[in-house]
Amino acid sequence: MQLDFLGDLRRTHMCGELRAEHIGQKVILLGWVNRRRDLGNLVFIDVRDRNGMTQLVFDKGENPAAHEKASALRSEYVIAAIGHVRKRDLDTVNPNIATGDVEVRVDELKLLNESKLPPFLPGDTDIANEEMRLKYRYLDLRRDKMQANIELRHKVALAIRQSLSERGFLEIETPFMTRSTPEGARDYLVPSRVHPGEFYALPQSPQIFKQILMISGFDKYFQIVRCFRDEDLRADRQPEFTQIDLEMSFPQPDRVFEVVEAFLQAAFKAAGHELTAPFPRMTYDEAMRQYGIDKPDMRLPAMTDIRKAFTDEDLTELRIDASMNMVAVRIPKVGKISDREKKEIRALSDELAQRNKEFAGVLYDFAQLEKKRPQAATKIRELCAADSEDLIVPVVAIAAAESKARTAANQHAQFTAAGEARLELARKYADRHGAFTRTGEVGNDFKLLWVTDFPMFEYDEKENHWNPAHHPFTSPHERDMDKLESDPGSVRALAYDVVLNGTELGSGSIRIHRQDIQEKIFRALGMSIPEMKERFGFFLEALEYGTPPHGGIALGLDRIVMILAGADSLREVIPFPKTAKAVDLMVDAPTPVSDVQLKELGIKIK
Ligand code: ASP
Repeated sequence: MQLDFLGDLRRTHMCGELRAEHIGQKVILLGWVNRRRDLGNLVFIDVRDRNGMTQLVFDKGENPAAHEKASALRSEYVIAAIGHVRKRDLDTVNPNIATGDVEVRVDELKLLNESKLPPFLPGDTDIANEEMRLKYRYLDLRRDKMQANIELRHKVALAIRQSLSERGFLEIETPFMTRSTPEGARDYLVPSRVHPGEFYALPQSPQIFKQILMISGFDKYFQIVRCFRDEDLRADRQPEFTQIDLEMSFPQPDRVFEVVEAFLQAAFKAAGHELTAPFPRMTYDEAMRQYGIDKPDMRLPAMTDIRKAFTDEDLTELRIDASMNMVAVRIPKVGKISDREKKEIRALSDELAQRNKEFAGVLYDFAQLEKKRPQAATKIRELCAADSEDLIVPVVAIAAAESKARTAANQHAQFTAAGEARLELARKYADRHGAFTRTGEVGNDFKLLWVTDFPMFEYDEKENHWNPAHHPFTSPHERDMDKLESDPGSVRALAYDVVLNGTELGSGSIRIHRQDIQEKIFRALGMSIPEMKERFGFFLEALEYGTPPHGGIALGLDRIVMILAGADSLREVIPFPKTAKAVDLMVDAPTPVSDVQLKELGIKIK
């Protein structure tokens, strides 16, 4: 069919804008053919743009030329419609769309472009084949849900920018082509042609630059910034992702919390949700003891220590010694548990044993316990403040024979087993009443909290040395400074996480601002002086020029938008994501490059 040019046509309205008040007006709409219904002498076209949809009518009797043109339209053709708004007949009013009271009788139709038959249509709701969606991402992004998600992303980012800007933060860009930043993942490298054999690294975070900006006196920095981490493949992980990154001078952790709480409130508001601040706070130690995890899901009760419920004789008979951790997991309002479910719960014990090399959990059948040790069972109910409908599962953590977990450094491991049981049970039994979902879309029950005082170091058994639990610029607690060499495992860091419904949204810390302490930490991490100078010499030097106390945090924007969109994958809120195998199916990346390019870069592929 002959195509028309846009010429100087300008739309008067978006496709979702027309209402009864526009009846009689001349309008110009531009958009895509969403659907065509051909009734012979009458053709109806739904024209669509980002804003919505309007019904166009072509009447052969009134305008044979436009009618003929309309008959040839197909899905996803791009058109311009010039016509008049009129009231729909009562029997064609469509209450499901915003423009459902009116339609446009078209005087002139222009065909701006044709479309091949798309592999799926924007109106298709469930497209099982995600690879197809990603390959034809431009079509996928035409779908309502994706349009809404991307718009939400914009609104959320804008609200965050506004909130931070109002509080005196400046958005400052930092380089993508830089050198390795220590966030613990592998770097993506960019070879230099001008310096053969040398490479830039894409930033895993702007960490060093934002700290330098504090040294430079910018006082409050933020950036909504892409970060790159070459980590092992996992279902919902993106090699490039977006962080809300910030840093401020002279802060206590509380100051950072206030800033984050304010922008999260603004972000949630942009998505129509109210958040109450300040968020509760909990130390890492408390989180581990009460929830068995450092990112507790607060929609469910904490675990309860139940040792008190047993007499010494009970404990001896049950062969529970003082080193074992005894807690009860309570899932509210589960109701009756079938025999099959009881078996499932028992099987969880084996699963936990397989997963944990340090501690396994033994899960007890509470009904059995009620029969055999009624006093203990009553006591447990009391301790847990349990309702008769609640599911109670006592869990005892038992150390693996070869486990070194009884050392002070990883004593928390024994809570992990119980914590995993708690989550597993919650997923199975709380979820069946819609009380608990990972993304929190049920009831929009958003439970946020701060977890503070993380351990400074983690021991790497394989490599036999200490690693920073956050990153090596994190400041130890002032009170733990003297234990850096003697007992690194017990040193607490001024590091914090913000957690939502069991998911970590972001991590940050107060930094080391003194060169002597920074060197001490590098040494505690087993870095030699030449290595230190080679990797971070410039930074250690910068620290010597009047560095103010400073600290900050970074939160994952993708994850926040995902939760607010009620989506179950990051790919639903990133316009052009990569697959779990780090492939972009639309542009087909990565790809091999030409020999010429390799030669220029001085690179040989083995
Ligand atoms: N750079 C850290 C990260 O990406 C965040 C921070 O410490 O501010 O996790």
